[in-house]
Amino acid sequence: MARLDSTPREIWYGNERITRDVSKHKAFSGVARSVAALYDMQSREDLAEVMTYASPKTGDPVGASFLQPKSPADLAKRRAMMKAWADYSGGVLGRTADYLNSSIMAMAAAADFFGREGQDFAGNIVSYYEYVRENDLLLTHTLINPQTNRAVGPSKQADPFTAARVLEKNSEGVVVRGARMLATLPMADEIIVFPSTVVRSGQDDMPYSIAFASPVSAKGLKFICRESFTSSSTFDHPLASRFDEQDAVVVFDDVLVPWDRVFILEDPEKANKVNEATDAIVFMAHQATVRESSKAEFVAGLVSLVAETIGADQFPHVQEKISEILLTVEAMKAFLNSSEANAKTNRWGLFTPDYGPINSARNLWPRVAPSLAVVVKQIGASGLMAIPPEEILDSEARVDVDKYYQAKLADAKERIRLFKLAWDLVGSSFGGRQELYERFFFGDPVRMASAYYSWYDKEPYKQRVRDFLQRKDGE
Ligand SMILES: Cc1cc2nc3c(=O)[nH]c(=O)nc-3n(C[C@H](O)[C@H](O)[C@H](O)COP(=O)(O)OP(=O)(O)OC[C@H]3O[C@@H](n4cnc5c(N)ncnc54)[C@H](O)[C@@H]3O)c2cc1C
Repeated sequence: MARLDSTPREIWYGNERITRDVSKHKAFSGVARSVAALYDMQSREDLAEVMTYASPKTGDPVGASFLQPKSPADLAKRRAMMKAWADYSGGVLGRTADYLNSSIMAMAAAADFFGREGQDFAGNIVSYYEYVRENDLLLTHTLINPQTNRAVGPSKQADPFTAARVLEKNSEGVVVRGARMLATLPMADEIIVFPSTVVRSGQDDMPYSIAFASPVSAKGLKFICRESFTSSSTFDHPLASRFDEQDAVVVFDDVLVPWDRVFILEDPEKANKVNEATDAIVFMAHQATVRESSKAEFVAGLVSLVAETIGADQFPHVQEKISEILLTVEAMKAFLNSSEANAKTNRWGLFTPDYGPINSARNLWPRVAPSLAVVVKQIGASGLMAIPPEEILDSEARVDVDKYYQAKLADAKERIRLFKLAWDLVGSSFGGRQELYERFFFGDPVRMASAYYSWYDKEPYKQRVRDFLQRKDGE
């Protein structure tokens, strides 16, 4: 929190320019406390074994999401750590640090991929990973060019400096001009800019084919935030008040990136391959699936409580709908278990989950997550609107509230608290953003599905059908 407040930066919130004391700003105070609580879990004696491991450099404890797994036990430790963080927020905090820590952890192991004649990009990624790990820095990231004209690539936009690109190279580093979207958790310490997992670049996109890191304090770096969905009341908005991560468009106004923070430079081929070739995508998807499984469990718990509280749990269609959520819980767990059971050491020496099941999980989730929210609405029904502001509990109307808001299994206050949680998860501004997040946070689900289609080896199934068609009568 102290680092957050003392690091200079430029965050725009409406007409307000926030340069310091981010944790004290109304748009960030709730989520800053929550992120601090996650880091505090690493210092708890009872959780130390799960949350940390000994730094290979100093022997001091460092966050387990930086652990470069070499064995099934290491992979299990990574999962346990990520699950503990995900459970803290019911899975609604998407960009906990373990997401990007996993990415740079894998890229550092695959440093040789980055090597280029005359440039120590391989050394850069290793020293950056170690720097982030030893200082437990919080990263945000941007992969996508501004949504100006999707019919053409970045070099064909009316202004070729709309998307962030190389402006010039000098003795100190690379100067970047343009913008990227969308950086969730803009209150981070550092931003990493990497290529998207689905958008492919051609030779014309050379100046845009870059990967680098920058402290948020870099001159010319600006974050332009959306309206905040947070609230000062944990009773009225139990999730938004604690976990509104914020999302920002990032402007690079001639930002100097020092040479030792450059990982890919004007190299469309490397930009197109980096996520897959380094297996960063596998470790990010592993984290994402752990979080998604935690969130599915949270929704299952919440909707079961809602149904039981109002005595709707006896109806077969309510049981069927809750079962759909439970099926998702089990499916996500099964994807994880199978990816870990079939893990193998990759060519960079990391014990790596099997990509098949978690690639399937990351493609399935944007399709099923919105339907989990629909079930909460179908079962909560008008109860999701019987959620008066907290102040009514101290008013003359309290006597009516106590009488008419009570439920089969809860007094009025407890029932209102539960239904506010449900509404915040699926219906409030925060809940609406949750749905959008689950649809898009790993990329455009349509292009992800096309990539999945191409990647999936369908040949054995096709062959079985061909063989069947060749069968003779009586076979
Ligand atoms: C809440 C939220 C948080 C996010 N956080 C982050 C973050 O922290 N970091 C980050 O880098 N990104 C983040 N993202 C952005 C995310 O990566 C993108 O939403 C995703 O990659 C899709 O890109 P887009 O939003 O620009 O959609 P677009 O690419 O603009 O797509 C818009 C529509 O057009 C279609 N479309 C566009 N181009 C094509 C094409 N070539 N072929 C087929 N269909 C096309 C899409 O299918 C879609 O329906 C976040 C997004 C959301 C919603």
